[in-house]
Amino acid sequence: MLIVPEREVADLLTRAASFDAVEKVFAAMAAQDAYNFPVIREAIGHENALYGFKGGFDKAGMALGLKAGGYWPHNLEKHGHINHQSTVFLFDPDTGMVKAMIGGNLLTALRTAAASSVSIQHLARRDAKVMGMVGAGHQATFQLRAALEQRQFEKVIGWNYHPEMLPNIEMVANEAGVPFEAVPLEGMVEADVVISITSTFAPSVMADHISAGTHIACMGTDTKGKQEVEAALLARATVFTDEVAQSVSIGEAQHAVADGIIAAGDVHQLGAVINGTHAGRTSEDEITLFDGTGVGLQDLAVAASVVDLAIEKGVAIEVDF
Ligand code: NAD
Repeated sequence: MLIVPEREVADLLTRAASFDAVEKVFAAMAAQDAYNFPVIREAIGHENALYGFKGGFDKAGMALGLKAGGYWPHNLEKHGHINHQSTVFLFDPDTGMVKAMIGGNLLTALRTAAASSVSIQHLARRDAKVMGMVGAGHQATFQLRAALEQRQFEKVIGWNYHPEMLPNIEMVANEAGVPFEAVPLEGMVEADVVISITSTFAPSVMADHISAGTHIACMGTDTKGKQEVEAALLARATVFTDEVAQSVSIGEAQHAVADGIIAAGDVHQLGAVINGTHAGRTSEDEITLFDGTGVGLQDLAVAASVVDLAIEKGVAIEVDF
C-alpha cells in the first residue's frame, strides 16, 4: 500500500493536472462509465463535527474508493488544524485490496476549483473579460486562481458578505496581474463570468444581478438548505451540473426544483457538453449556470493522479499492509 501525505500534495498536484482529471471524470460520468455512490454525511454528536463519505467507481479511469472526512468547527482554535479534514482511500478494482491513502485537504480545494474551471472552459463566452467573485473565503482564492487561467480576463470584481475578507481575493487577482475592484452585488451585472463560493443559507445573488450572456458557477451549495442564488435565476439560465441527483437534492437546483420553477430534467450534466452530446452554450445572450455540488469521483480522479506523480517522483511511502 502507498501513502501520500498531505504535506507532499502541493508539490505534486498542479492546477493543470487537476483540470484534466476532473474534465475526464465528468466526461466518464456522462458516458455512464463512472458513477458516484450515495453520499453519507452525519453529525456525529462529538465536537459538533460533521463526518461522512463520498465514493464511487470510475471504470474508464479504473479508480475505486472514497473520501472520508468532514468539518470540525473548533479545530483551528483548539488544535491549530484546519477545520475541513479529509483523506482519500483508493482500492484495486480487480481485487478490492487497498492501494493508496492520500491526504485530501489541498486536493479538495484543487478539485473544486478545477470543476468551476472546466465549466468556464466549456460554457463561458470566448470573449469574457470581466471575472466576478461572490465570496472571499478559503475556497474562493483557489477558485479565482484557476478561473483566471481559462479566459483573457482584464478585470476582477468582487463582493463578499464579510468585506474585510476581500483582500484574500484581491491578492490573487494582483498575483495574476489583473486589476481588482470591490463592488456591491448589483455591480455583478458587469461580469461575463461569476463564481459564487459562500456558505450562505439565504441567496445573495438575485436574478437581476446577472446579465445576459454570463456564465455563473455556483460552487458553495453542497448541503440541503444552503442557497447562494435566487431560484428565479435558474429559470433564466441553462442549468448544468456535475451530478443531477446531487444538484436537485443538495445543490443549488434543490430550491428551483422544489419550488417547481424548473424540473430535474432541465438540469444537464456538464460531462455531456464535454462529450459533445449536449450543445452547451448556443448563443451569446444565453446565461449558463453550473451547479457544482462536489462529487466523490472528482476526489478519486485527482487522488489517482497524485499517486502516479508521487510514484514518479519517488515520494510515495510504501508500507507492507
Ligand atoms: P470559508 O469559511 O473559508 O468562507 C465562507 C464564505 O462564505 C466567506 O466568503 C463568507 O464571507 C461567506 N459567508 C458566510 N456567511 C454568509 C452569509 N450569510 N451570506 C453570504 N456569504 C456568507 O469557507 P470555504 O472553505 O471557502 O467554503 C465555502 C463554501 O464552499 C462552503 O459552503 C463549503 O461547504 C463549500 N464547498 C463546496 C465544495 C464543492 O465541491 N462544491 C467543496 C468545498 C467547499
